[in-house]
Order: sequence, then structure tokens, then C-alpha cells
Amino acid sequence: MAVDLHLHTTASDGTTAPREVVALAAAAGLSAVAITDHDTLAGIDEARAAASNHGIELIAGIELSLDWPTGNLHLLVYFLEPGTGPLQERLASLRTGRHNRNTEMVAALQDMGVPITYDEVLAEAGGDAVGRPHLGAVLVAKGVVADMKEAFERYLGNHAPAYRPRRRLGLDEAVELATASGAVTSVAHPHSVADSSDAYEAAFRRFAAAGVAGVECWYAAYAPDLRAHLADLTRSFGLIPTGGSDFHGAYKPDLHVGTGRGDLVVPDETVDALESRRPR
Ligand code: AMP
Ligand code: FE
Ligand code: FE
Ligand code: ZN
Repeated sequence: MAVDLHLHTTASDGTTAPREVVALAAAAGLSAVAITDHDTLAGIDEARAAASNHGIELIAGIELSLDWPTGNLHLLVYFLEPGTGPLQERLASLRTGRHNRNTEMVAALQDMGVPITYDEVLAEAGGDAVGRPHLGAVLVAKGVVADMKEAFERYLGNHAPAYRPRRRLGLDEAVELATASGAVTSVAHPHSVADSSDAYEAAFRRFAAAGVAGVECWYAAYAPDLRAHLADLTRSFGLIPTGGSDFHGAYKPDLHVGTGRGDLVVPDETVDALESRRPR
């Protein structure tokens, strides 16, 4: 059977409620899913109740955006339970950092003459982990841009004029906090930090040194040969290949739970492999 270990819900920047994401996973015949909202576990309780009804396994998780010399490294954190713990407690300040950054970005947009208010962004977001896709959705809804792609190109992207940075954890710090919280980590969509075989190898060496458990190789956007190459490279460093769709509902309408763009298969043994790396 297959699984999907990278899913966003309305708790962060997805547009599908946690229970609906789980229902889509069950309909796709998956045996397990990980909910990995950005910087929040707010969707987990609802997702877990739904998973129990559908008879599938629910892994509590998050996705963190980390500092990296050449940009952003995203880190998936699995088996991070709602409640108290070193990483759980840090999430609140990460969400405050989002709020401060978003406020600055809305002010920058207003200075550029773009009609947008933070209240509109909060209404679009609904949850407590507010991000750039919510700003983008408001710009689309108001006809400022045609689509999310244009919103990032013209205003919100890392090199666009309304972008403002926010404080991020470093890789070592994030892995330490996750481990101290009983969780297991896997680097998300590693093409964000590498664009050649040599660059992948250097990055993977750094991931392994930091104590990361896995790397996301089966990613919807990757061609089959890249998925296979990354899985081989991951295993050569003693790490676990993982995978998922990075489903965001209507914000990324071409991606489907479980199957990505139709050809994604994440084997269910992946969950056991990650389980075996849980700190005890
Ligand atoms: P934030 O975490 O608020 O900085 O927003 C980052 C999120 O925006 C990422 O996790 C993606 O979901 C989305 N994103 C980043 N770059 C783009 C892009 N060029 N086009 C569409 N979505 C993007
Ligand atoms: Fe996202
Ligand atoms: Fe990501
Ligand atoms: Zn994601």
C-alpha cells in the first residue's frame, strides 16, 4: 500500500480541512498519512479523529522553514505530538515571527499602491499559521494578479519587492529540538538547496552530519529518474528516502493527495523505517 507524508491543511496554507484531507487519503487507498502544516499542530486532533474513523494511520507532523546559506531549507518533522515539548513550545514564537513578517509585507504592498489589508489576509488564512500563500490568495481574489504564480513573481517571492524575511531556525538547532521532542526529521523537496549532482551530494553530507533521518525523494514535482537518483543517494548516506504530494488544496490545484500529479507512489515501508528512528 501507499502513504503520503507531506500534506497541508487549513491549519496552515492549505485550503482543505484536516478531516477532508484524511477523507481524500482514505479514498485514494492510502494506509497512512502525515499532516505537515507549517509551524502548527492545530490540525492534528481533527485529522486523527478522522483517520480513526477511516481506519488509516495518522502521523502528527509539521514543516519548518530553516536558514540555509543559499536560501530556504524545508524540514519535515514526524511524530511530533500536540502538547508540550521543546519544539512544540518554539512553534508559538515562529508563528509570531510570521505575524510580524506578514504585517511588514502588507505595509510594503500598501506602499507600492496595492490595495490589501492584514484583516483580509487573516480572513483568508482562517488558522494560526499565516503565510505568503494567503497574501497571494488575497491578491488573486482582488484581481491584482491573475494567479498565485504571478503573485510570487511580482510581489511575494524571495527576490520580489514586497518580500520581507523572518527569523528561522538553523538545521542543527531544528534537529536537536525535534529529537528532544521525540520526533524524526526528513528534509523536504531538496531541489530547494541543490541543482546538480555535486550540490546534492554536498547537501546530503550536511544533512547526515546534522542527524536528519530522511530526505524527501518521492516528490510529485520530480521526474522519475530524479526520484530514483535521490533515493539511491539518500540510502548511500544511511538515510531514509521519504515522500509526499505537498498537497495544498486549491493553492496548488495540480497536486492530489497520495498520487501528486498522478504518478507518485510512496511505499508504506517508509513509515516503519521512520518509526525505527524515533528517539527513545
Ligand atoms: P511562508 O512560509 O509564509 O514564507 O510562505 C512560503 C510558502 O509559499 C511555501 O511553503 C510554498 O507553499 C509557497 N510558495 C513559495 N514560493 C512559491 C511560488 N513561487 N509560487 C507559489 N507558491 C510558493
Ligand atoms: Fe506551504
Ligand atoms: Fe515546503
Ligand atoms: Zn509543504
